[in-house]
Amino acid sequence: MEKIYFDHAATTPVDPRVMEKMLPYFTDNFGNPNSQHWFGRRSVTAVDEARDTVASVLGAKPSEIYFTSGGTESDNWALRGAARAYANKGKHLIVSAVEHPAMIATAKELTKEGFDVTFADVDEFGTVDLEKLRRAIRPDTIFIGVMTANNEIGTLQPIAEISEIAQECGAVFFTDAVQAAGTLKLDVNAPRVDMLSLSGHKFYGPKGVGVLYVRSGKRVGKIITGGHQERGMRGGTTNVPGVVGLAEALRLSLAEAEQNNAYVSRIRDHFVARVLREIPYVKLNGHPKNRLPNNANFSFRYIEGESLLFSLDLAGIAVSSGSACSSGSLEPSHVLLATGMPEGLAHGSIRFSFGKENTIEEADFAVDVLKETVLRLRALSPLFPKDLKNEVYEKEG
Ligand SMILES: *Cc1c(COP(=O)(O)O)cnc(C)c1O
Repeated sequence: MEKIYFDHAATTPVDPRVMEKMLPYFTDNFGNPNSQHWFGRRSVTAVDEARDTVASVLGAKPSEIYFTSGGTESDNWALRGAARAYANKGKHLIVSAVEHPAMIATAKELTKEGFDVTFADVDEFGTVDLEKLRRAIRPDTIFIGVMTANNEIGTLQPIAEISEIAQECGAVFFTDAVQAAGTLKLDVNAPRVDMLSLSGHKFYGPKGVGVLYVRSGKRVGKIITGGHQERGMRGGTTNVPGVVGLAEALRLSLAEAEQNNAYVSRIRDHFVARVLREIPYVKLNGHPKNRLPNNANFSFRYIEGESLLFSLDLAGIAVSSGSACSSGSLEPSHVLLATGMPEGLAHGSIRFSFGKENTIEEADFAVDVLKETVLRLRALSPLFPKDLKNEVYEKEG
């Protein structure tokens, strides 16, 4: 059976062109960029080129780009690093309630160091409530962190407005752009952000490599201490093949974004339209329009998302319940709960995230399997009310 991969928000395959560009840095060009010889210098050149590429894609200076081990480290570094660097100014941090666990868990840890955290509220679509955000600001607010796009429900955040709010109150503004990169055009000056994170494996690059952008003049404390790598700000031998791959993947995904977004959103829109038309008692989560082109997140009433996920997996269709990070635990998604969704409904949620190698035929096959599976699970479900008709609708035309 052909496997169908609809979990691109969890990770993506490495683009073969990216792979090709990386390969020499595992073998022939293996030098440590910190070494003082020819082998080392060759790696320095590769890392410099990668940094220049990332900087130019983001509208940043190369000296503002730091390579990390991924999105989680970049998020940790931004939040912990800024908290420590600005603690003398104040100890109040604001992060949105729908941030990735890399931010939420870090913010919670920081409360143990005496920081005060406000988790900014979102509306029913998962969009940060700007009025409430404004009211949350205090004289000692030093940091505002709101992601560009949500990884679970795809909602795009009003980061231009949030950037202005942060500038007015003098707080550092950080955006986790891990899900947005490769899809949306990113420019650290429009809207102006002070810090931004990326992760290679979310845009057809390698895993285990990421970026933290830090605007020059903004301070960030060190998190990983060791050698003098990354201009003395992050110890550890640079992942040379990783940064080469990340830069190439970022460059390609931006160059091809328009075409890929049009292709992927056509599949997504077709899928969403069929699901909503043919399966009753389903809700599309996230913002109806203001969302990533590849994300569809549904709550299927009266069934467990986990059971649905396992049945789809048996049929060869890979999806996610909530986020990859919360699956495995039976906790309902903190993102859906933040939108005001009742726990029961949040438990019945599944994320489909499409990619450039998917096809309309795969989407059609998945809807057909989904219809059958939902019907079967509802027939077995003690949650399904006896007075409702358990049925699906036939595809029109
Ligand atoms: C995947 C993801 C991360 C974590 O990135 P890793 O490189 O997997 O550590 C952080 N934030 C968002 C929004 C993500 O989707």
